[in-house]
Amino acid sequence: MDHIIETNNLSKKYGKQFALKDASISIPKGSIYGLVGRNGAGKTTFMRLITGIQKPTEGDYKIFGTDCHDKAITRQRKRVGALIEKPGIFADLTAYSNIKTQYINLGLPSYEGIDELLELVGLADTGKKLAGMFSLGMKQRLGIAIALAGSPDLLVLDEPINGLDPEGIVNIREMLLKINKERGTTILISSHILGELEHLATDYAFIEKGRIVQQISAEEMKRKCRKSTLIKVTKPEIFCRILDDMEIEYQVTGEDELTVFGDFILSDVVIAAAKDGADIVSSTVNDENLESYFLDIIGGCE
Ligand code: ATP
Repeated sequence: MDHIIETNNLSKKYGKQFALKDASISIPKGSIYGLVGRNGAGKTTFMRLITGIQKPTEGDYKIFGTDCHDKAITRQRKRVGALIEKPGIFADLTAYSNIKTQYINLGLPSYEGIDELLELVGLADTGKKLAGMFSLGMKQRLGIAIALAGSPDLLVLDEPINGLDPEGIVNIREMLLKINKERGTTILISSHILGELEHLATDYAFIEKGRIVQQISAEEMKRKCRKSTLIKVTKPEIFCRILDDMEIEYQVTGEDELTVFGDFILSDVVIAAAKDGADIVSSTVNDENLESYFLDIIGGCE
C-alpha cells in the first residue's frame, strides 16, 4: 500500500453550504503532506471527516487501504493520532499526567514510552509544572505528544504552527521532521501560510472554498518556483556553448528557445554571443516565490 489515505469526491455540507466539495486526494506513505488554504477553506472539515469525527455528506475514503464503510475501519482508526483545532489538555495536570490520561483512554497496557514522548517533544524537563502554565508552543507540543500516544502510523495536525513565534515554529518543524524520519510516521498538516510548511512538507494539496485546486509534490513546486529566464535566440547552438563555458545551468526548451536557471548576467551572454553573430530576440524572467505561487493557484477562485 503506497497511500495511507485516499479520498474519493469527499464532500461535507453544513445546511445548504458545502464546506468541502469533491475532495479527491492521496497521501503517500511516509510523506509530510501539507494541506494549504485560507481561513474557512475547508481544511479542518477535511481532517474531521478522515478521522471519523464527522461523517461525509457524499463521497468516501480509505485509511490504510480500508474503506470507510468497512467494519475494520475501527481498527485502522487506532493507527491515527490527531490534533484538530485546540489541543485537549487538562490545565491542572502535568505534561506526564496529560499523556498518561490519553494512554488510559486508549487502553494502552503500559505507561512505558511516556518519558520518551516527553523527550521527543522537548517537554522532559517540565516536571511538576502544570500544563495550564505552559506557553502556547509548549501546549502545542504537548498536544502533539498526546496525539502520538500509541505510536500512530498517521499523525493529523490542524494548524499546529498557528500563533507561534519564529522560535516556536522552528521547534515544531524540527520535531515533526524527527518524528517523520525516526518513527516513519506519515504526517498530514494544515496551514494557511504556505511558507510555514516550506522545509517540511514533501507534498501539498491546495484547498480553496472547499475544493482541492491542486496537488503537487514539494520537488515539483520548488522547480516551478525557481528563478528562470526564458530566452528566444537566433542561433541556439552558440548560446549552448557560451552558457556551458560560463558554467550556467540551462535547458533547451524549444527550437530557438532556452531556459536559463538561477541568477546570471544577461549582458555578458549577449556580448559573447554577438561576437559569434548570435542574438537574443526576447527574454522573460520567471521569479515566482512560494507565496505568489500560492496566491496564483487560489487567486483564480476569487
Ligand atoms: P480555519 O483555519 O479558519 O478553521 P478551515 O480551512 O479549517 O479554516 P473549516 O473550519 O473546515 O475551514 O470551515 C470550512 C467552512 O465550513 C467555513 O465556511 C466554515 O464557516 C464552515 N463550517 C465549519 N464547521 C461548521 C459547522 N459545524 N457548522 C456550520 N458551518 C461550518
